[in-house]
Amino acid sequence: MPRPIQATIHTAALRHNLASLRTAAPGARLWAIVKANAYGHGIERAYEGLRGADGFALLDLAEAERVRALGWRGPILLLEGVFEPRDLETCSRLGLWHAVHGDAQIDWLATHKTHAPHRVFLKLNSGMNRLGFSPDRFRAAYARLAALPQVDEISLMTHFSDADGDKGIAAQWAVFQHATDGLPGERSVCNSAATLRHGQDAAVRGDWVRPGIAAYGSSPDFPRHGAAHWGLRPAMTLESKLIAASAVQAGESIGYGSIFTADAPLRVGVVACGYADGYPRHAPTGTPVLVDGVRTRTLGRVSMDMITVDLTPVPAAQAGSVVTLWGEGPHGTRLPIDEVAQPCGTVGYELMCALAQRVPVVVA
Ligand code: PLP
Repeated sequence: MPRPIQATIHTAALRHNLASLRTAAPGARLWAIVKANAYGHGIERAYEGLRGADGFALLDLAEAERVRALGWRGPILLLEGVFEPRDLETCSRLGLWHAVHGDAQIDWLATHKTHAPHRVFLKLNSGMNRLGFSPDRFRAAYARLAALPQVDEISLMTHFSDADGDKGIAAQWAVFQHATDGLPGERSVCNSAATLRHGQDAAVRGDWVRPGIAAYGSSPDFPRHGAAHWGLRPAMTLESKLIAASAVQAGESIGYGSIFTADAPLRVGVVACGYADGYPRHAPTGTPVLVDGVRTRTLGRVSMDMITVDLTPVPAAQAGSVVTLWGEGPHGTRLPIDEVAQPCGTVGYELMCALAQRVPVVVA
């Protein structure tokens, strides 16, 4: 018998989420973001659910090769562009579009002849202060690219730092509009939060939206809004089973460090899932979990291979009971990954990406 832990990737949920995103940004073309191995879901596993997108956006040539190997003939965008000049030949061979965020990438394009021309997404730093040309240097970068015979199309992009929060996109959007005013080329500015919150505005949604996390069913602006508010369904379930259940008396502690002490008699379940499976070690007592579809809480410290949970709300639970760490539970129940991430002081992105290699994954 294998250890009873498994992750499931829900193809129908991926398709559903893409449909929700298309409704949120009508008419825009949609990149499915599959960097970080499709946010931990696995590029190959997520492909069937995401192939209804208009293109795949990712980080490096290895990921792009994997998408091409799946048979994808449409657009693929390297979100950070090429990392060294010889990557340009691979871009041209694989027909990749690539971001240009710095002078070195333009120098490489100017000096390395490739057998096919390049389509590039010129990136503006509109306030995130990570990658991209500053507004005062953007037009010069555009002019340099436009003068290169091996560049046949230039699109314009920027990335928002606060589309999910109170600050919003207004200031960065104004910078983008000003810096790109009058320049020809397609526009792409919206991540998940901007797509969902501003996609009805034709100018903001532009030609291409780039929603990552929402396609995987996590809300980009949790806890302000949960995934259900945005019509999103979890694309990943992490499920295990109870491998033991026992009684603990008042005054007894549970697990390493004895950080939880029962103040009343409790039934405690032991779940075959720990931090070596990708469950966050810093999950505090009280992190939500479903046992047989009933919501309860973790108790004490997460260990490498096990967590302990309170069985008080689910007295019939016993060894073999199904435990949902996040995602879809039995009988139509659901535990959004965002509700697990929040008490851990992190975001759904990190939990998905941290799913450990040792966890068997099935595609449903
Ligand atoms: N576009 C770019 C350039 C990104 O770096 C990312 C992710 O970090 C995304 C789009 C997707 O962001 P999100 O997953 O928040 O939708």
